[in-house]
Amino acid sequence: MDLNNENLKIAIQKKGRLSQPSGELLKAVGIEFDSSDGRLFARCRSYPLDILFLRDDDIPEYVQDGVTDLGIVGLNVVEEKGAKVSKLDFLGYGECELCVAVPKQGEMHSVFDLRGKRIATSYPRVLGKFLADRGLDARIIEISGSVEIAPGLDVADAICDLVSTGSTLRIHDLVPIEVVLKSEAVLIANQNSIADTRKSELIERLRTRLLSHLQAKRTKYVMMNAPEGALATIKEILPGMKSPTILPLAEKGMIAVHTAVPEEVFWDVIERLKGAGATDLLVVPVEKMVV
Ligand code: ATP
Ligand code: ZN
Repeated sequence: MDLNNENLKIAIQKKGRLSQPSGELLKAVGIEFDSSDGRLFARCRSYPLDILFLRDDDIPEYVQDGVTDLGIVGLNVVEEKGAKVSKLDFLGYGECELCVAVPKQGEMHSVFDLRGKRIATSYPRVLGKFLADRGLDARIIEISGSVEIAPGLDVADAICDLVSTGSTLRIHDLVPIEVVLKSEAVLIANQNSIADTRKSELIERLRTRLLSHLQAKRTKYVMMNAPEGALATIKEILPGMKSPTILPLAEKGMIAVHTAVPEEVFWDVIERLKGAGATDLLVVPVEKMVV
């Protein structure tokens, strides 16, 4: 492997749920690299960055030890490994929840029913802390995969596992009773790398690109026409981002209003704008947003 010490290094998952979105995110911010199958390493053409493709379980430790400066991995893995790394930014994909689930027909309904029970999990550290924080004494059975079959095999009374849609739980007649950790992909950094002037500058440039891309994805650009008299109400409705652009229309007394709207309030805002007299609403995606 031909690593260049001048380059920043980032670890992403080699094969799994986070591989494709992590690679796509880097490409979306102008980082060009060859991601053909089976590679362990790629040198970027357009940024001083080397990418290492690793098992997700190894990423927190590699970043902690400085083998790579940065990593993209699920928060669940970072917390379970207990690695000393800086969590820089949540990246908005790989969302899932680490949940305690119990047999549907059983007598357990809340976490307090777990006292003295056996809980199968691949997350002994995170679960152990969760139980200790609540003063719950339960036995943790560590299993590395297919945790959901443990109750059926009478290996455990409950499980603590990752859930995104809940379909795996349903197939095994399990129901979630408590969320232990909400997780998504997170950008992590080595603590020495962020203290190093040269590296931290490269990291911050990369973060600016990532954050402007992520913010753009969460934003719509809205254009509308409205009677001039509705402007005060429209301004009140628009979430406090930037002052909207107001343009006069050929038709007297009418204006066009352009503004960016965050996705989480999008429908609410659109409905209220219509109610305030806005017409001909046009919504376009935002490619990048550099503030
Ligand atoms: P590796 O071979 O790299 O060890 P893995 O099998 O441990 O892979 P994946 O199943 O690819 O990991 O999951 C990677 C990450 O995706 C998880 O750690 C988690 O953060 C996230 N994720 C999102 N939804 C789910 C889900 N339903 N089940 C498991 N992981 C999920
Ligand atoms: Zn893994």
